[in-house]
Amino acid sequence: MKRYPHCLLCFLDDDFQSDLRAAAQHSAPRHEKALTAYAQLFQKALSGLGSVSSCAHHKLENEHFTWWVDETLKLIQSQPTQEIFDGMTEAYSTSIAGRFGESFERVKSLMLKLGIDKTRSERLGKVLFFRGRKGRLLREDLYHIPFSKRHCISNQRYSVTGQPLLYLGLSILDVACELGAEPKAVDDYSFCSYFLKDSATTRVLDLGNSLYDSLWNNIRPIAGAGSQLKHMAEAGGLPAISRQTVIERLKIFVIAAVCSFRRRMVTAQDSFAPEYVLPQTMAHWARETAFDGILYTSTRIDSEHWRMSGDLQLNRYRENLALFTKYVSHEEKDHDESLLAKFEISPPIQAADVKEISDDVIVEYRKQIVQGLQAQSLTELGQRAAIDVDVAFDGLVYSQLDLPDVPYYQTTCGKIQRYLQLLFMMSRLIDA
Ligand SMILES: [Zn+2]
Repeated sequence: MKRYPHCLLCFLDDDFQSDLRAAAQHSAPRHEKALTAYAQLFQKALSGLGSVSSCAHHKLENEHFTWWVDETLKLIQSQPTQEIFDGMTEAYSTSIAGRFGESFERVKSLMLKLGIDKTRSERLGKVLFFRGRKGRLLREDLYHIPFSKRHCISNQRYSVTGQPLLYLGLSILDVACELGAEPKAVDDYSFCSYFLKDSATTRVLDLGNSLYDSLWNNIRPIAGAGSQLKHMAEAGGLPAISRQTVIERLKIFVIAAVCSFRRRMVTAQDSFAPEYVLPQTMAHWARETAFDGILYTSTRIDSEHWRMSGDLQLNRYRENLALFTKYVSHEEKDHDESLLAKFEISPPIQAADVKEISDDVIVEYRKQIVQGLQAQSLTELGQRAAIDVDVAFDGLVYSQLDLPDVPYYQTTCGKIQRYLQLLFMMSRLIDA
């Protein structure tokens, strides 16, 4: 184990959980045994955690944030997560024994018992998504794989062979890694941005790290702004409503964790992947339960080299959105046009099309957007494109031993992303 977790924030870190899964896989060649080993490592690490106030990485001066994190830890330690691990492991074992219907029913009854069918992601709105493909391409070429080309669809984590999904990434780096490209050599790839026009009407199962996200991006700034969180305490610690949210997010954290094992063996024939059985069953269940798609964390980014500088950052640059397509057999259409119509899709660009943009220019556009727009929604869009995205990627760096870290925006992927963000902001000005 490269890291040892001291506090809840260490434990919830995506890289730490990824290390735990790797250790479990290392200890057991069969995936069902690796699932059991991971559950044990997870419980052991969780029970050994202490207060954030004594963690060298996460120690913060704010007593209210510290209190909140420590109370959240106590609550999490008191929750019975073992039944989720057991339920998912049984569903896996049933599936590899060839009893697919029974495996699906096990997942379904577990999700209903846990109340996962009633959840939805609240984290779709404030972001710009990206998509890419090899070649000099047109916008239409960056839609999902056409219904007439199902034979081109490979075995993916959240999709069964032959089912086209619309895959989007939250960063160009993520998109490049998902395509299997070396992030420094993407000159012959085309990328475009996808903006979800109305996130409120899209219901997505959030298997990302919303537990960490909410502590770091909601609670910490609230405490930092002077909120006396401790005074909200009720008998048993956190306010009841927050306890409920933490418990719901913890369940999802465990489900996402067992769906995020890296593929051990990648073969040229793209054959069966044990690590994809549970995520694919989850995707099947989510589709049957009227979710529009799944938000999840990529396992393909090389986190040894690409990381957030400092320990106190969020890993949203690795998030992916996979949206289900609907196929209507009596129509001749090759794409799910109603799904595509939910997005504003930019023309694709390549690395060679990117022009250098200075910070001054971006600041100036941002100002014009904020000052010039009357419509509240468009103002929000402009702010989101210019500010939130900058903040989210601010600390991302490419790091190599003995060399200075390279900020993301100076890498090829970062430059492409920044330019697409600028084009998106400019389109807001034109619309106004
Ligand atoms: Zn810590």
